[in-house]
Amino acid sequence: MRLQNKVAIITGAGNGIGRETSLLFAKEGAKVVCVDIKDHDGKAIVEEIQHEGGDAIFVNADVSKESQCKNMVDQAEKAFGGVHILFNNAGIMHGADGDAVSTDESIWDLTMNINVKGVFFGCKYGIPAIRRSGGGSIINTASFVAHLGAATPQLAYTASKGAVLSMSRELAVIHARENIRVNALCPGPLRTELLMKFLNTEAKKQRRLVHVPMGRFGEAKEMAQAALYLASDESSYVTGTEFLVDGGITAAYVTPE
Ligand code: NAD
Repeated sequence: MRLQNKVAIITGAGNGIGRETSLLFAKEGAKVVCVDIKDHDGKAIVEEIQHEGGDAIFVNADVSKESQCKNMVDQAEKAFGGVHILFNNAGIMHGADGDAVSTDESIWDLTMNINVKGVFFGCKYGIPAIRRSGGGSIINTASFVAHLGAATPQLAYTASKGAVLSMSRELAVIHARENIRVNALCPGPLRTELLMKFLNTEAKKQRRLVHVPMGRFGEAKEMAQAALYLASDESSYVTGTEFLVDGGITAAYVTPE
């Protein structure tokens, strides 16, 4: 098993990427701390892991709240004696997030608080815990939009993911000699609730797929596989990367010289 004896904190574990990653990490031997704001979804994933013989606990935390992030790390250390993997994955894309003119300050603040400050708080408390455990791997979920921007405006979201990407690079450099690796996972458009609630007609879906060379949306399971690589010792010389798992969308946008 690829994550034997590792303890992993996964935020946004109730759905999508977080859910699939929780299942996969547990299958690979990790003890998983499933974090979400939704009790029902978070508890359901823990039950599923336990049913399959794995080890997991649920912690309700809103990643935009410092005290709750501290608590999620405390709970991980209390339950499993350490932390080796921190997957700062929770994020939102708000329906009222538009262009610079139409986006309210409240939407901007909400998006930044969860998507950016959530990663900061995760690291603020997660890094000392990983240090205490002798090192480990941090994965921050950014997005392909951190590289490209988006064709339909979602300015706060795009800016937040740019921040996650640059923050991940700096974290990687600062903590490299402490045996702590930090990488950004940059998914392409996925068939998860987050995106599908916006692309809610076949026409909208097809419009987005025009830009994806593979001609399909990515699956949360495919992101989980990428996260597994970054979490495991197989990626022991990989830090500071922007791991694009995007069906080729970024390559398709690169203009030839
Ligand atoms: P999802 O909506 O399916 O799941 C997100 C989970 O995060 C939910 O369970 C939700 O309850 C939880 N969550 C939301 N706010 C939270 C908070 N404040 N604190 C704790 N948990 C919270 O989304 P997903 O598609 O799995 O997305 C996961 C990550 O991937 C996000 O950061 C998202 O921005 C990023 N991403 C998604 C796509 C895509 O196309 N779906 C593409 C690129 C990047």
